[in-house]
Amino acid sequence: MDPHEPMDPGPLPALDRRIAGCRACPRLVEWREEVARTKRAAFADWTYWGRPVPGFGPADARLLIVGLAPAAHGGNRTGRMFTGDRSGDVLYQALYDVGLASQPTSVSADDGLALHGVRVTSPVHCAPPANKPTPRERDTCRPWLVQELRLLRPTVRAAVVLGAFGWQAALPAFAEAGWAVPRPRPAFAHGARVPLDGLDLFGCFHVSQRNTFTGRLTPEMLREVLRTAATAAGLN
Ligand code: SF4
Repeated sequence: MDPHEPMDPGPLPALDRRIAGCRACPRLVEWREEVARTKRAAFADWTYWGRPVPGFGPADARLLIVGLAPAAHGGNRTGRMFTGDRSGDVLYQALYDVGLASQPTSVSADDGLALHGVRVTSPVHCAPPANKPTPRERDTCRPWLVQELRLLRPTVRAAVVLGAFGWQAALPAFAEAGWAVPRPRPAFAHGARVPLDGLDLFGCFHVSQRNTFTGRLTPEMLREVLRTAATAAGLN
């Protein structure tokens, strides 16, 4: 599967299936499959997903959340964005707190979690070593995000981008998908709000443990960004 191959805009589930079959980045394919074979002791009885992790949430979402990449033993294990790791615990608890998720936990792809008007995705769909995709991997994966954005365009009205890496990866994707992104590109900051034509883009520190354990990102800071973005998206 080649992410640069032209594709007729189709339903989002079809795109998600195509993403899940992608093998365009040799280093990431090797890593995600190696992690799925060797596992972590605590998850020894799991059959890891070990493939690209597509976006999660309804095809008519009004609010999009853009992370960085799946975690080796989180999304790469469970097959769902931010599911089964500490970052996801923080994100989904906050989504639940502000009324955008049906439950506060996200532990497996069949745990019944539903998002209300929200979709969660990332600019890189495979777990990278040390959580660091290369610029080339980021650029190789961008066409998947562009296609997802084009499909969401009729309904999406706000996006929360988690962290500077996601911000740098997302802005060109929004531009390629047809939004007018200012030049020079606006800088990432927690609380940044950039109006595009018909969509408000919000910056938020990433929900990584490095930020949440140190208090750089508190639950209330995250809830505040989500509440503001939900209002901008017309969800409350
Ligand atoms: S990171 Fe993206 S482009 Fe690279 S293999 Fe995974 S899904 Fe494909």
